[in-house]
Amino acid sequence: MRRFFVAGNWKMNKTIAEAQALMDVMLAELDAIDNVDKGVAPSYLAVPAVVERCQGTGVKVGAQNLHWEASGAYTGEVAPAMVAELCDFVIVGHSERRKFFGETDETVNKRLKAALGAGLDVIVCVGETLEENESGQTEAVVIRQLTKGLEGINETQAAAITIAYEPVWAIGTGRAATPQDANNVHKDVVRPYLKKQFGAVRAEQMRIQYGGSVTPDNAAELFAMSDIDGGLIGGASLKPESFIVIVKAASMVAIVEEEAQS
Ligand code: PEP
Repeated sequence: MRRFFVAGNWKMNKTIAEAQALMDVMLAELDAIDNVDKGVAPSYLAVPAVVERCQGTGVKVGAQNLHWEASGAYTGEVAPAMVAELCDFVIVGHSERRKFFGETDETVNKRLKAALGAGLDVIVCVGETLEENESGQTEAVVIRQLTKGLEGINETQAAAITIAYEPVWAIGTGRAATPQDANNVHKDVVRPYLKKQFGAVRAEQMRIQYGGSVTPDNAAELFAMSDIDGGLIGGASLKPESFIVIVKAASMVAIVEEEAQS
């Protein structure tokens, strides 16, 4: 049975009080869905309060970034061990970090290695811009981001990695990729790359999330695709009723697939 991973990226939203209120509204319903891995990634300052709320539940808590150095004179940064004290996972390489904060494939790779070294699970984001998409460069861009971003990672380490394919033009725009187009990238670009690097068994186990304007309306159709193993959800993860429906969609697809197999 496929076990989906649906994670909410809250970005720079929610004060501590708002984060607590959001978890209070949705935690019980999320926790009750036990055939899906669920996560939320609040801003750093809200992490402790959300961790406290999620203790003893099936909801994992993540950070949205981390620095690769263990400690030192890096004002404003957060070290891997600091993140790992509280979080289960971390997101690296989000397109907003690439666009606004100078993230490169090389720094993604440093962050990934440091995060794995600290024992964190990692969501590595890849995806092409609109311009790259329209000029037919999607495959080349995603392969470059994977090749450089995952450089030096071995098959054992890969077990802790989820890839999030997030076409930049679909993030926060209300214009999601079609399930077929997204699945084509997952199935024909990302999965074969993972297979080549880590072998067929590991590549099949690794989850490839889709991210970019996932909503309660399109989630089930996306998750029903063969190689979309969950979602990285931005805007809709801030609305409890929407996030719950999206996680439930993953749960339903998993159940339907299991029934079809038996
Ligand atoms: C994201 O932030 O990773 C994202 C996919 O955002 P949204 O769902 O709002 O498009």
